[in-house]
Amino acid sequence: MNPETTYSIVVPVYNEEAVIHDTCRALKAVMDGIGERYELIFVNDGSRDRTSEILQGYARQDDHVKLIDFSRNFGHQIAITAGMDYASGDAVVVIDADLQDPPALIPRMIAKWREGYDVVYAKRTTRKGETAFKRWTAHAFYRLLRAAADVDITVDTGDFRLLDRKVCEELRRLPEKNRYVRGLVSWVGFRQTSVEYVRDERLAGETQYPLRKMLKLSLDGMTSFSSKPLKLSTTGGVALMAAGVFYGLVRTGAAAFGGDFSGWQTVIFLQLLLTGFLLASIGMAGEYIGRIYDEAKGRPLYIVRKCYGLTERSSAAERSGRGRWRGVKFIRKI
Ligand code: UDP
Ligand code: MG
Repeated sequence: MNPETTYSIVVPVYNEEAVIHDTCRALKAVMDGIGERYELIFVNDGSRDRTSEILQGYARQDDHVKLIDFSRNFGHQIAITAGMDYASGDAVVVIDADLQDPPALIPRMIAKWREGYDVVYAKRTTRKGETAFKRWTAHAFYRLLRAAADVDITVDTGDFRLLDRKVCEELRRLPEKNRYVRGLVSWVGFRQTSVEYVRDERLAGETQYPLRKMLKLSLDGMTSFSSKPLKLSTTGGVALMAAGVFYGLVRTGAAAFGGDFSGWQTVIFLQLLLTGFLLASIGMAGEYIGRIYDEAKGRPLYIVRKCYGLTERSSAAERSGRGRWRGVKFIRKI
């Protein structure tokens, strides 16, 4: 135990007045039990109920409790991001407010962190109290994303995880707007491990993730970490063109031996060839769009875990620094 260590617990909350008292109590009990310094950072994502007032009350009474009150509903992933921006702990734990993620798991995560892991995510073995539809779509989505994504995104994990300070700092350097935080955490790398748990039912209240928000989250996940959908039309287009050429050859061969290559057959031939060509061109444009998108995401090219015999430098700061310097020279020349 080190009295200097601080833990930050980040809790996004949206319309959670039914559970927030229990959540506060449970988190405080667990963190007091650990006996080290901690802060509970609640991010109120524009709740329309009394969540904010309740949390303001806690923040006034208790120095451990802090509240970031959003001006409106910006979404779960943005709320988590804000919490991490304000967190000052050596380790940061992100946890849902509805006690579906058991706070009792936090000491186990901390133990793993002490062993030297930088990211400890909680992996759900079973999900209780969720509809078959939600379980099935979540199961399918995680596997699809894993197959399509360019980085190894862990399946069946939500945003309940512990992050070391340096991982938080790296995440803060990623400027993208449509954030899929659990994918970004996989993307930054470092030493990652998991602890397993059974996902409980929500303590009270209703899910704040209707189908619309779930679709947005899965689209963010898919588009931020895979350019495979863009390539689908190239593959389809090339296949159609190949079929067209094959059909043309067969018909021409048949015509040479007295068969016919009549009007409607010509139409089929041209249809295959032209549609294929169009699809392939769209795919080509997609390749460029994919590259523009990669540039626009502005992620650093690499992340260094540690240097031996060298001083660490951040790749992005380096490059933008050089960019500024070029700008200054340019102004001087004018
Ligand atoms: N949440 C949020 N903003 C939103 C939706 C949800 O901050 O727009 C919070 C919510 O209060 C909870 C967490 O995100 O702490 C997960 O939401 P929920 O439990 O409704 O999702 P589910 O567990 O059903 O997937
Ligand atoms: Mg929940």
